[in-house]
Amino acid sequence: MISIKDFNFSGKKAIVRVDFNVPLDKNQKITDDTRIRAALPTIKKIVEDGGSAVLMSHLGRPKGSEDKFSLRHIVGHLTELLGREVKFADDCIGNQTLNAKNNLQSGDVLLLENLRFYKEEKKGNADFAKKLAEGIDVYVNDAFGTAHRAHASTAVIAQFFESAKMFGFLIKRELTSIDKISVNPRRPFTAIMGGAKVSDKIQIINNLLDKVDNLIIGGGMIYTFVKAQGGNVGNSICEDDKTELALEVLKKAKTKGVKVWLPVDNVVANEFSNDAKTQLTSIDAVPEGWMGLDIGTKTIDIFKSVIMKSSAILWNGPMGVFEMSNFQEGTKKIAVAIAESTERGAFSLIGGGDSVAAINKFELTNSVSYISTGGGALLEYIEGKELPGVTAIRK
Ligand code: AMP
Repeated sequence: MISIKDFNFSGKKAIVRVDFNVPLDKNQKITDDTRIRAALPTIKKIVEDGGSAVLMSHLGRPKGSEDKFSLRHIVGHLTELLGREVKFADDCIGNQTLNAKNNLQSGDVLLLENLRFYKEEKKGNADFAKKLAEGIDVYVNDAFGTAHRAHASTAVIAQFFESAKMFGFLIKRELTSIDKISVNPRRPFTAIMGGAKVSDKIQIINNLLDKVDNLIIGGGMIYTFVKAQGGNVGNSICEDDKTELALEVLKKAKTKGVKVWLPVDNVVANEFSNDAKTQLTSIDAVPEGWMGLDIGTKTIDIFKSVIMKSSAILWNGPMGVFEMSNFQEGTKKIAVAIAESTERGAFSLIGGGDSVAAINKFELTNSVSYISTGGGALLEYIEGKELPGVTAIRK
């Protein structure tokens, strides 16, 4: 397999699958450019070697060509970050785009229009992939967030570059970091799962039971476990049809020797609002008409002591409704505990949109070992599933 670090792009035209699927406000201004910044090392390597870089990405979920999802909105900011002109092709395939590719000089950067303006992209259409590959010498995949999809630009295109395909720096770092917890992790290895629903996370939880020593569960999904065990959940978010599944998780954990840590207390509110009345109750005694929106103080202490004794930590999903200041304490304290444990030498990996947002909100971005850019892709890779975007480069 070719390593981007050792490859010389001089005189080569490289097409790079990047993930520029960034949030835009209603004036099409970028509100978080993390993903663009994450792609810079790969782009810089190509142009600084004397090659040219053709960048392709999706943005949002367009129905056909919709201006609000045009990658044109990214050009200005990317130009600023790179410190060099970025050309734009207002189609990702076609004659004009091919001409633009053919005219590229050493050091040029060309951004193509949104791949998902064509339904062929998500369908993994080979003809479409071939058109993307036209006029190009090298294929680089640097979009981890879409690596679990067999789309034209993420996987199918690789067949046209059998001896000239590679991962970009971002994907490489992702895979190396995730392998630290999915292949022979340091022990004790603790997974902290949170978020709203059990149904979203059940597969990964089941899979983690084969790997972890401790499983900490927080967030809205705990109420399905509480109800399954006969507790009162009041109006808390609860999936009644998943209680059996919750009991199976607990049973499987027991047979695998995994210690499951569920909250013992919680902060309950009389409505889903930051201004709601609150009280602290035992986790299995949420009063009628009230709902649990954060883990309680005893729980925080217990979780913290498990985290401090861990040598590898995976965190996915907040412990409560951290978007509201009155229910952010649990998530914040857990984030701080992860940072402290990292400081003591643990390897910590944070993945999944909301836990990443939480780490950023509490300004702990530089206090954890690695923050993954790929929610779904991260979880599928840990589950041991083959990611088409990864396999297409490795095979
Ligand atoms: P997920 O995308 O599944 O990781 O879920 C994240 C969302 O779960 C966040 O928006 C949180 O506000 C929400 N959440 C966490 N704890 C609770 C809770 N106790 N009740 C309702 N929603 C919650």
